[in-house]
Amino acid sequence: MHVIVFLGPPGSGKGTQSEILCGKYGFVHIATGDIFRWHMKHETDLGKKIKEYLERGELVPDDITISVVEQKIRESMNPNGFVFDGFPRTLKQAEKLDEMLTKFGLKVNIVIYLNVSKEEAVRRLLARGRHDDKPDTIKRRFDEYEEKTKPIRKYYKDRDLLVEIDGEKTIEEVHEAIVAVLKTRNIIP
Ligand code: AMP
Repeated sequence: MHVIVFLGPPGSGKGTQSEILCGKYGFVHIATGDIFRWHMKHETDLGKKIKEYLERGELVPDDITISVVEQKIRESMNPNGFVFDGFPRTLKQAEKLDEMLTKFGLKVNIVIYLNVSKEEAVRRLLARGRHDDKPDTIKRRFDEYEEKTKPIRKYYKDRDLLVEIDGEKTIEEVHEAIVAVLKTRNIIP
């Protein structure tokens, strides 16, 4: 069973690529943003607890995020593995993920960093046209992401797990590049 982590700023296509990969290879997609939005929409206890963070665009506290991920791993064991999308977002989360996976007899096998320029991210998110996607807001979120995830990239780079992929190509081309890397590492046949 393999564990793949996607890193990349907003607009890098990591959600799209994670979904394509999971659809094709039967990995379980763990996207913390999606899980949190689901809880908000259904007004669960967790949803009420995290609402303010999401509305302010702030990170949900690590302990809440980590327990959500742990529960999701626990309830979705399958033979093909997991794709993490939007997690880890902090160094603490990266360390906790390693601890958690060890408990399940797993480890992170590869970290794919989708690299896009700020200009391209802005273009894509403006085209998506969500009302909170204004150029300045997008640029700020992009810079914040880059800054905050630098230590995470280093963490995985030091462990020889980080692979950088050009995220500016078409969806199909990026997918093919990801597949090629996963094949070389024997993560998919
Ligand atoms: P996303 O869909 O990944 O952009 O996430 C949407 C929102 O969910 C973020 O702005 C955070 O408030 C929260 N969130 C998602 N993933 C995490 C995470 N790993 N750690 C903390 N907060 C998160």
